[in-house]
Amino acid sequence: EAKTRGRNTYHFYDPSLQQRGMRRLYLENGLKQALELDQLSLYFQPKYDSRGAKLIGAEALLRWRFQDVWVSPVEFIPLAEETGLILPIGEWVLETALRTLAEWRAAGIVDAHFHMAVNVAPSQFWHPRFAQHTLDILRHFLPDAAGALELELTESCLLRPTEESLRCFDRLRRAGVRFAVDDFGTGYSSLSYLKQFPLDVLKIDQSFVRDCIDDPSDATIIRAIIAMARGLGLEVIAEGVETTEHAVFLRDAGCYLLQGYLLAKPMSAEMFAGFCRDFARHPICGTSVLNGTG
Ligand code: C2E
Ligand code: MG
Ligand code: MG
Ligand code: MG
Repeated sequence: EAKTRGRNTYHFYDPSLQQRGMRRLYLENGLKQALELDQLSLYFQPKYDSRGAKLIGAEALLRWRFQDVWVSPVEFIPLAEETGLILPIGEWVLETALRTLAEWRAAGIVDAHFHMAVNVAPSQFWHPRFAQHTLDILRHFLPDAAGALELELTESCLLRPTEESLRCFDRLRRAGVRFAVDDFGTGYSSLSYLKQFPLDVLKIDQSFVRDCIDDPSDATIIRAIIAMARGLGLEVIAEGVETTEHAVFLRDAGCYLLQGYLLAKPMSAEMFAGFCRDFARHPICGTSVLNGTG
């Protein structure tokens, strides 16, 4: 008893906790500055349709290099959420992602069906002006491009279907914005949001894809998600597709849209343009079972 309490008390003064606090402060100040000094950047990862060997879109992913070290968004996004910095950062991401898509379209690097996917954090999505800000940016960069923007929401964004969040959905959808549920299957257990929100895409989380060849539970979960998406009239895409085996398993299970290192790691806008130009020579395009010919 006493020993446990003693350990708990000690835990309170755990130096690693103090170190975590210091790192937090360090990153928080750094992030504020990075935004002001325009030191954030976006990388882009392609999405592929194995029915026709076609690139269908890209996901924009934030990158931050701070004092010569890359800081993972897994670490700084939650921090940005807690401090409210996610609002200006989120607007910067939307602007930069849509400007980039407009440039790619103007340069003929991608066609008119190619979309840009942007991740949206819950506090961003719940902000009362989110729909207006997003529409303003969309109209500025892509005035006549319905379907150009896909918003990736996590299940926690969809926890509470308030009248306001439904109105937000409605406004954006009428402007042609599409909605995907990111990391599908890892969030809250209630699925009732699937019938309350007008969604377009389920994104199978990479944790299910990773071991789908060896782990029958993962394979079963993936098949169930695909069946559910089909039944609900939603598209389904898999993230974290790293091997041909993954892609073939998914194709056989009825999931044709793929994203992951098998296609490419996230890359700069310049590299992405080159990637698109050379895409016909990508190994996946020569794999008959993955290019729609097999
Ligand atoms: P996410 O939206 O689920 O993005 C997928 C993550 O998986 C990305 O990590 C991507 O680089 C990584 N990934 C892609 N393909 C593979 C693969 O084949 N194997 C493996 N192991 N990983 C792969 P990243 O870029 O570190 O981003 C992590 C998370 O941070 C994102 O997860 C997203 O939740 C968040 N995030 C990133 N950028 C933004 C942003 O602009 N706004 C918001 N709100 N969140 C963001
Ligand atoms: Mg995402
Ligand atoms: Mg994801
Ligand atoms: Mg994820």
